[in-house]
This record gives sequence, C-alpha cells and structure tokens, in this order.
Amino acid sequence: MTENGEATPLVVLTNVNKHFGNLHVLRDINLTISRGEVVVVIGPSGGGKSTLCRTINRLETVDGGTVTFDGRPLPAEGRALAMLRAEVGMVFQSFNLFAHKTILENVTLGPTKVRGMAKAKARALGMELLDRVGIGAQAAKYPAQLSGGQQQRVAIARALAMNPKMILFDEPTSALDPEMVQEVLDVMIGLAADGMTMMVVTHEMGFARRAADRVVFMAEGSIVEESTPQEFFTSARTDRARDFLSKIL
Ligand code: ADP
Ligand code: MG
Repeated sequence: MTENGEATPLVVLTNVNKHFGNLHVLRDINLTISRGEVVVVIGPSGGGKSTLCRTINRLETVDGGTVTFDGRPLPAEGRALAMLRAEVGMVFQSFNLFAHKTILENVTLGPTKVRGMAKAKARALGMELLDRVGIGAQAAKYPAQLSGGQQQRVAIARALAMNPKMILFDEPTSALDPEMVQEVLDVMIGLAADGMTMMVVTHEMGFARRAADRVVFMAEGSIVEESTPQEFFTSARTDRARDFLSKIL
C-alpha cells in the first residue's frame, strides 16, 4: 500500500492540544478516523467538540501535537489549504447560505470558483445534488424562502458539490424546529450508507445508534470514552458519560 493508499486512515490526530488564552480547550487528543467511518462526537457544552471539528479543516490551528489528513500534515496556507477546505466539507448549526444567491447558485459557487468547473457542468451537478437531498424543485428560490430543514439540506448539497473526502457536521440539527430534524438526519443517514466519511457532533442519539460506527464522548477538552454506540448507550464506562447520558436520554 502506498503512503496515501486506502489503508491509511483519513484523519489522524496525535497528542493534539489547543489553548484559547489560559483556557486549555483540547487536551492530548488522539483520534483516528478511517475512510468511510462515521464518528459521532457527543458531550457537554463547552467541552471542545466544535474546536475539535475545526482543527480538522484547519479553521483552528493547534498548539501541540499533529493533525494529518489523507496521510499528510495539514497545509498551513495558500492553495493547499484551500484544497483541504474543499476536501473536508463542513455543515454548521447555522446554515450559512448566501442570502442573495439562489439555492442552485449556493451549490454551484464552490465548484466554479474553487474547482474551476464550467458553469453548465456545475449547474448539472448542482441539480443532481439538490435532487439527492430532496429539494430540486426549490433550486431557483432564495434561502429565506425555504424552511430551516430545507436550508440545511442545501448546505449539505453545497458541501457535497466539492466532492469532499469527508464532511464535518457540527450540531447540524440543533437550530431546527423539531419537525424538521428528521429530514436532515435522513439525508445524513443516506450519506453514511453511501460510505461518506463523517464526523458528526450531535445529541441526536437515534442518529448515533443508527449511523455511527463509533461514539466519542468528550468533556473538558478530553476524549473520555470511545466505543461503539451499542456499548456506549448500554454500558458507558465512566461516571462522567453516565451522568451526561442520564441528562439527555
Ligand atoms: P463545544 O462545541 O463542545 O460546546 P467549543 O469547542 O465550542 O465546545 O468550546 C470549548 C471552549 O473553548 C469553551 O469554553 C469556549 O467558550 C471556548 N472557545 C471556543 N472558541 C473560542 C475562541 N475563538 N476564543 C476563545 N475561547 C473559545
Ligand atoms: Mg459546539
């Protein structure tokens, strides 16, 4: 197998540490994500989950340890960093769509600007992806004309348009009205089934049980437990995790 061959884990964090001033936000994080794996990260607010996500596409730098993606250390800047951000899609709690662009334009912007794809080809791809997330019929509308669940599905289509090797989801359903949560989770379950590598910060335990290969429980900047969803939900090993579960289940 070559250095970047299929056997290499897609993401490897080794002894990663991160501070914001005096706050030690990531503490000796060791985490490996294999290709096609779905890792669900759960834990109390302020525990470092978002920061962990953001270190993988280098929206945050680390001040100790190493992060590799696809067998290489994360690029620091320039074209290589732009390519990394294209290869690692990110879907946030707030959908962050461009308000003055149509749904289709929101999806085609990345492929045309970053990938240099021809406009016609990008439009065809965009329509295909909007159909895949179930909103092809809304392509000509603007974000404000869509429900939250629909906007989040557009955000997923936009990430997919870059043909990412991985997608990071940071609480993708937390801002949604309850009746819209499942339509977004269903799209994510479909992606997982199609083999997309995903790291998902969520408190949706139904999703974790159904789609996760692994659950990572994080608190106060540390990975406290790492196990299969089955193990985690039936027999969490630490008091910290059991206490957290008793509050959310
Ligand atoms: P979580 O996503 O688990 O709620 P975060 O990664 O967002 O946790 O935050 C971890 C800690 O780092 C929190 O105490 C938060 O207030 C702090 N923090 C996050 N981002 C910044 C930042 N840019 N500057 C300073 N402190 C931050
Ligand atoms: Mg967060």
